[in-house]
Formats: sequence, C-alpha cells, structure tokens
Amino acid sequence: MNTILSVQHLTKKIKGKTIVNDVSFDVLAGEIVGLLGANGAGKTTTMKMIVGLSKISSGDVKIAGRSMKTEFSKALDDLGAVIEAPAFYPYLSGYENLRQYQRLHKKASKDWLLEVASLVGIDHALKQRVGTYSLGMKQRLGIAQALLKKPKLLVLDEPMNGLDPAGVRETRTYLNQIADELGVSVVISSHQLAEIEQMAGRVIVIQQGCLIAEQQIGDEAGSSVLQLTLHVND
Ligand code: ATP
Repeated sequence: MNTILSVQHLTKKIKGKTIVNDVSFDVLAGEIVGLLGANGAGKTTTMKMIVGLSKISSGDVKIAGRSMKTEFSKALDDLGAVIEAPAFYPYLSGYENLRQYQRLHKKASKDWLLEVASLVGIDHALKQRVGTYSLGMKQRLGIAQALLKKPKLLVLDEPMNGLDPAGVRETRTYLNQIADELGVSVVISSHQLAEIEQMAGRVIVIQQGCLIAEQQIGDEAGSSVLQLTLHVND
C-alpha cells in the first residue's frame, strides 16, 4: 500500500514551550486515521503543521512523497484541508461558491463539482445562498471545496464539532464513501473516541503534544487501552 502521508518527528515550539513533541505516523492510501486528544492536547497545532498553516519547528511532513519543507507547492497539490470554519461568500449560492474555487483548479470539471456536492449531500441545496446554510451544511461545503482539486489526502480538524447525532452519523457515512470510493486518505481529529471509532481504521492519541498511543480499530484489547487512555485524559 502507498504511504500518502508521512509525519516525521514533527515538533512545534512556541516561545520556548514545546506544543507538539516528536510526533511520527504514516497514513496509507484510502485509510481513515483519527487524531484523538483532549482540548489543548495539540491536535490543531499538529494538523496546521501537516497542512502548511503553521511553520514546522523540526521534523518534516511528506504528502505523497513530497516534503512540505522543501517541495511545498507540489506537496499542496495532493492536499485538501478544512481547518477551522472555512469562509464563504454568504450572498452567493453553494454552487457559485464552489465555482469560484473550481476556477482555481484545472482538475475540477463542472461534473466533478456536482459529484463532490452529491457525495457530501449538499446537491439539493446548491442553489441556496450560503448565508442560509446551517453549520453542518457549511462544513459539508468546506469538504466539497477541499475535494475539488482531487486531493490524495483530506485533513479535517474536528468536523463533527457542534453537530447533532444525526449529523455525526451522516458525516461518518460520507467520509467513509470519500475514502472507499475515491480512495482518498482522511485524517480527522476529535476529542471523542465515540465520534470516530466506527469510521477510523486507526486512531492516534495525542496528549500534551506527544503521541502516546496508536491503535488499530477493531482490536478489542486496543479499544480498551484507548478508552483507558482517554479516560485518564479527561
Ligand atoms: P482544542 O481541541 O481545544 O483545539 P487541540 O488539541 O487542538 O485543542 P492546540 O490548539 O493544538 O490543541 O493547542 C495545544 C496547546 O498549545 C494548548 O495548550 C494551546 O494553548 C497552546 N498553543 C497553541 N497555539 C499557541 C500559540 N500560538 N501560542 C502559545 N500557545 C499556543
């Protein structure tokens, strides 16, 4: 299997304080990996370094074999990300918002735009102004936008935050489809194991900036280790 994401000894220091400490892991093609940790554990900082929004203090990130440090713009070609709430034009429709972004990416045909909108379940709302969208629909639009450039890797920071249980279930369903049908690798952060365990093939636990556990889901012994780890985290 191809390694799509390789996180190598990733470290972030801010004003002498280590926020992320020597984190290493790989993600294979089509794999969904959960990044789990309590509030303040260092998930967002790790993701921001992975997607190039925060400078790497030491270590490296490779996306489809290309270094974010030395081949930044080429590495970005294979990356789609939703970190924090993406900004949209509220007076344009969902379709018009996607079209604005589509024009920037030569890989994104109109058919592809409609396909990703359908995949994340906003096809029925494409003519509606985005200002009328719920939080969950904006989240879906953000993921559709990230998919327009046909990335090999999708990085999502807490996409289930603020969603009701039905929204969480639907998110799981379409993320599974994105991984299975498009072969896209997904890294998704959460502070709740329950949100991601039925979807992620593997979960990585971050505590105080360190990777403290890595577990294949479906392994019962591993699951109880994770429960215990998270309980201690709380
Ligand atoms: P949450 O789920 O609450 O977003 P998180 O796991 O994503 O938490 P981070 O946002 O990565 O955690 O923050 C990790 C730690 O680093 C926190 O203690 C945070 O206060 C600290 N931190 C993050 N960015 C900075 C910064 N620019 N300056 C100083 N400290 C920071």
